[in-house]
Amino acid sequence: MLLEGKKGLVVGIANKRSLAWGIAQSVSREGARLAVTYQGERLEENVRKLAEELTDPVILPCDVTRDEELDALAEAVRREMGSLDFVVHAVAFALREELDGEYVQTSREGYRIAQDVSSYSLTALARRMVPLMEAKGGSIVTLTYLGGPRVVPHYNVMGVAKAALEASVRYLAADLGPRGIRVNAISAGPVKTIAASGVHGISKMLEYHRRHAPLRRNTEQSEVGDAAAFLVSDLSRGVTGDVLYVDSGFHVMGMAELDPAAS
Ligand code: NAP
Repeated sequence: MLLEGKKGLVVGIANKRSLAWGIAQSVSREGARLAVTYQGERLEENVRKLAEELTDPVILPCDVTRDEELDALAEAVRREMGSLDFVVHAVAFALREELDGEYVQTSREGYRIAQDVSSYSLTALARRMVPLMEAKGGSIVTLTYLGGPRVVPHYNVMGVAKAALEASVRYLAADLGPRGIRVNAISAGPVKTIAASGVHGISKMLEYHRRHAPLRRNTEQSEVGDAAAFLVSDLSRGVTGDVLYVDSGFHVMGMAELDPAAS
C-alpha cells in the first residue's frame, strides 16, 4: 500500500460528500492512519460516525479561525500520534450574500472572513504542524478552485481567497522545501458539497462543466481523494509549490463552443 506506516491529519470533513472525506477514504485505503477534525459540536457526531470506517482514528475539534484550538490540535496530535507525515487542508467559508451578484459589492467583513477561513487558515495550520513533520519531511495539500486564477460567475470573494491560497502554497513551498516538506494544491472541478451549495448557480455550473470539460463529465469525490493520496505519497516527491487540476481537464479550455446549439 502506498501510504503504509504514514500518519496524516485531515481538516475539513463536514459529511460524507466532503472532499476531505473522499481524501480520508483514499489515504486510509492506502494504509495511512489518520487524525480527523470537526468544527464545533454540530459536526462532531457526523465525523465520529464516518470515522468508524477508518482504522484507529484520532478525532479532534478544530475551528481554524481560533489560534487556541489550532495550538490544542497540534498538542493533541503530538500526544496521540507522535509525528505526522502529511496534512490535508480542505476548509473554506464565505458569507452567503457574497457569493451572488457583483464582486464589486464585496463588504470589508465579507472579504476578511473569506480570507481568514479559506486562505490564512492554511498558513495557521502549517505553522503548528511543521514541527510534527520536520524530523522526516512531509507533505501538505490544500484544495483550491479555478475561480482563483480565473473569473467564474458568483465565485466572487471566494475566488480572491483562492488566489491568495494558491500564492500561500508557493510561499510555503519555498519556506518549507529546505526542511523536506512539500506544499501543493489540488484544484478540483465543481462537486456538490455543502460549501459548493453556497455558490449561487452551482447546478448550472455542474452542467456547464459536464458539457465542456474534455472528459465530458463532472469531477468525482474519489478522483480528488486519489490525487491527494498521490500528493501525500513518495510518488510525488519531486513536486512542490504546484497546483494539480482534477477537473476532467476543464481548465485547459479557452473557448468551449462556437455553435452553442451544436453541443
Ligand atoms: P464541505 O464539505 O462543506 O467542506 C468544507 C469544510 O470547511 C467543512 O467541513 C466546514 O465545516 C469547514 N470549515 C468552514 N469553516 C471552518 C472553520 N472556521 N474551521 C474549521 N473548519 C471550517 O465542502 P467541500 O467542497 O468539500 O470543501 C472542501 C474544500 O474544497 C474547500 O476549500 C473548497 O473551497 C474546496 N473546493 C471545493 C470544490 C467543490 O466544488 N466542492 C471545488 C474546488 C475546491 P462547517 O460545515 O462546519 O462550516
